[in-house]
Amino acid sequence: MQGADTHPYMPVPVRLEHVERVTEKETLFAFLPPRGFAFSPGQFLMVGLPGYGEAPISISSPPSQKERIELCIRRVGSLTTTLHRLNRGDTLWIRGPFGRGFPAEKWLNRDILFIAGGIGLVPLRSLIKEVLKRRNDYHNLTLLYGVKSPQEILFREELKMWQKEGMDVRLTIDRPYPGWKGNVGVVTTLIPQVEIDEKRTVCCIVGPPVMYKYVILSLGNRSIRGEDIYLSLERKMKCGMGKCGHCQINSIYTCEEGPVFTLQEIRHLPEAI
Ligand SMILES: Cc1cc2nc3c(=O)[nH]c(=O)nc-3n(C[C@H](O)[C@H](O)[C@H](O)COP(=O)(O)OP(=O)(O)OC[C@H]3O[C@@H](n4cnc5c(N)ncnc54)[C@H](O)[C@@H]3O)c2cc1C
Repeated sequence: MQGADTHPYMPVPVRLEHVERVTEKETLFAFLPPRGFAFSPGQFLMVGLPGYGEAPISISSPPSQKERIELCIRRVGSLTTTLHRLNRGDTLWIRGPFGRGFPAEKWLNRDILFIAGGIGLVPLRSLIKEVLKRRNDYHNLTLLYGVKSPQEILFREELKMWQKEGMDVRLTIDRPYPGWKGNVGVVTTLIPQVEIDEKRTVCCIVGPPVMYKYVILSLGNRSIRGEDIYLSLERKMKCGMGKCGHCQINSIYTCEEGPVFTLQEIRHLPEAI
C-alpha cells in the first residue's frame, strides 16, 4: 500500500464491509482502507482471489471518503464471476493503488465536461464526487453518460443528487426502450446539446475503447486543447508497475504512465485509440 511498508507485489487482505448489487451485472464492494492508504481519482487496484488471479479495478469512491473504499465490478470472466459470489465478511486481496489519475487540483475555476460510457462511470464517480465536494473551486460541471439500456444505468440515486449539487447530468441510451423519454443515441449525440467554452473546459472521458475515437472526433469540432482532454485507457495489466509489458502501447506502459493520459500525450501513438 502507498505509504505503508508492504511490497507492491504482495497483496494484502481486506474484509468486505458491504456488498451491494447495483445492476444485474455490476456489484459494489466496500472495505476499510488499509493503514497508510492514499490515492487519487482514476488510480486502480489489482484485485485478486487466491486461485483465480488478479484484475485491475478502478477505485470508485472519492479520496476524501476516508472511512471506506468502494469498487464497482462488472461480472465478465472467471475472476469477476467469483468475486460476485462474495458476501459481507469475505476477504478480497488487493495491491496498489497504481498508475496516474486525474489531476483535478490543477483545474481550479475551469469547466469540467465528464463523458462516460457504460462502466466508465465507475472511475469517473471517484473524480465527480471529489470535485462536487469542492464545488465552489470549479465553474460549470457537466456529465454526459451513455449506456445501452436503462437497466444498465449505474448509481441512479447519485446521478439525481449530483444534479441537485450543481452538475448538469444528461443521460442517453443506445436504442429506443419502452417507457424511456430521454435522449436515444450513443453518447456523442449529447455533445452538440451542451454549450462548451473551449478555453475554459477540461474534458474527462472514460468508456469502452471504441468510444474514444468517436468522442474525440465529435469534440474535434470544438477547439478544446489536447492537453485539456483526459482519457483513461483500458489494457490488460498484470504487474501494475511497468515491468511485465502486458499493457504496453508502443513505448508506454499504461499501468504506470496511465491509465489516465491527455490526448496530447497519446495522439502520436498509433495503437492507443
Ligand atoms: C485500469 C483499469 C481499470 C478497470 N476498472 C474496472 C472496474 O472498476 N470495474 C470493472 O468491472 N472492471 C474494470 N476493469 C476491467 C477488468 O479489469 C477486466 O474486465 C478483467 O479482465 C476482468 O477479469 P476476469 O478474470 O473476470 O475476466 P477475464 O477472464 O479476464 O475476461 C476478460 C474478457 O474476456 C471476456 N470473456 C471472459 N470469459 C468469457 C466467456 N466465457 N465468454 C465470452 N467472453 C468472455 C469478457 O467479456 C472480458 O471482455 C478495469 C480495467 C483496467 C485496465
